[in-house]
Amino acid sequence: MLLVDCPQCGEEENLSGHISGEPGEEVIEVSCGSCGFSWVRDRTPTCPTCSSTDLRQAARSIVEKSRGTQLSIQSIEVIYLCPVCDAADLATWNQSNTPLRPREMPVSED
Ligand SMILES: [Zn+2]
Ligand SMILES: [Zn+2]
Repeated sequence: MLLVDCPQCGEEENLSGHISGEPGEEVIEVSCGSCGFSWVRDRTPTCPTCSSTDLRQAARSIVEKSRGTQLSIQSIEVIYLCPVCDAADLATWNQSNTPLRPREMPVSED
């Protein structure tokens, strides 16, 4: 699973990747089957805030408001937490080891 989308056309499914580069410095080269664009993808996720690549993989639940006031968990997404910028979330994750709560809860219509 590449977990990327094409930066040119937004394709998420029709992508193929292969590893290239020197041993120890391999990169993933991704090609888009829709528009033919190809690009090199970093192997490691990067913190959008501080550009650190020393991230920890965690999970977050995606919740959508269903009928009434009940909230139902729809799915789980894999996220990467920065030990510096996401310290609070990371601590929660390490303690509970269950998916984190969504950052934004659906807005109540009341
Ligand atoms: Zn594309
Ligand atoms: Zn960070």
